[in-house]
Amino acid sequence: MGKSPAMPDAGGANSGYLVTEDGFTLLLDCGTGVFAELRTVCEPTAVDAILITHMHVDHFADLLPYAHALAYPYGKSAARPRLLLPPGGRELLAKIVELLGIGYPVVGAFEVEEYDPDAVHTAGPLTLRHQEVPHYVRTWACELSGSQGGRFTFGADCAPNDALVKFARDTDLLMLEATEEFAPFVADGDVRGHMTARDAGELARRAGAKRAALTHFSDLLDPQVVRSEGEAGFGAPVELVQAGLRFTV
Ligand SMILES: [Zn+2]
Ligand SMILES: [Zn+2]
Repeated sequence: MGKSPAMPDAGGANSGYLVTEDGFTLLLDCGTGVFAELRTVCEPTAVDAILITHMHVDHFADLLPYAHALAYPYGKSAARPRLLLPPGGRELLAKIVELLGIGYPVVGAFEVEEYDPDAVHTAGPLTLRHQEVPHYVRTWACELSGSQGGRFTFGADCAPNDALVKFARDTDLLMLEATEEFAPFVADGDVRGHMTARDAGELARRAGAKRAALTHFSDLLDPQVVRSEGEAGFGAPVELVQAGLRFTV
C-alpha cells in the first residue's frame, strides 16, 4: 500500500503491506495514507487481520479512519478484523482514543489482541513469528509463512543488528527498511534506529535471503542510488518497494 518513511512521499502512504494466502488477507502495518490505498484494491471488510510491528504513527495511524469505516459506513454488522498489536499497543491505542475524545468505538471496531512475540502463532493459513529489533520504541520484525512453507520476513524499522540476521536466515523474501540517507544520520552519542540502503543490503546478504526488497525510503532520495547502494551491500539485484508492487513467495 505504501513505503514512505515518517514523512509521506508526494501522493504516497506510510508503511502498509497486504499479504494474501488461500483467500485470507492480512494487512501488515497501517500507517498514514494506507487506508485510502487499501480502498483502491479491496473492501475494508475484506481484511481478516491487521498486524502492527510497532506503535509509531507511520505504522499505525490509519487504524483510526479504518475504525471509523467499520463503525459507520460499513455498519456495525461488518466483520471485525483481528488487530494484532505489539505488547503495550492496546493500552497506548486506548489512551489515544480517550485523549482525542473520539466518539466512535475504535477499539471495539477490531478484535484487539496483543501478540506474544516469543510465541509462534497463526492468522488464518499464515504462521507468524516475531523478533525484537533495535529501534526508538520497542519494535518487532515478523515472519509470515504460508501453507506451502514460503517465508516472507519483514524487518520493521531497525538499526543494523545480528538478531534479525539470525531470524531471517535463508528466508525467501526479506523486506528491509532503508530509511537513512547514504550515511547514518546520527549525531555523536545518538543511538541508531534505522538503516541505510547499504546496511539493508548487507543484512540481507548476511542472512542468506533469497530475495531482498528495500522499503521505507523517502522520495527525496535518488532511487537509483538507493538501488545501487542496496545491491552493493546484497551482492545481487534488490527490489525497490513501491505501491502496487507484488511479490509471490
Ligand atoms: Zn518506527
Ligand atoms: Zn517507520
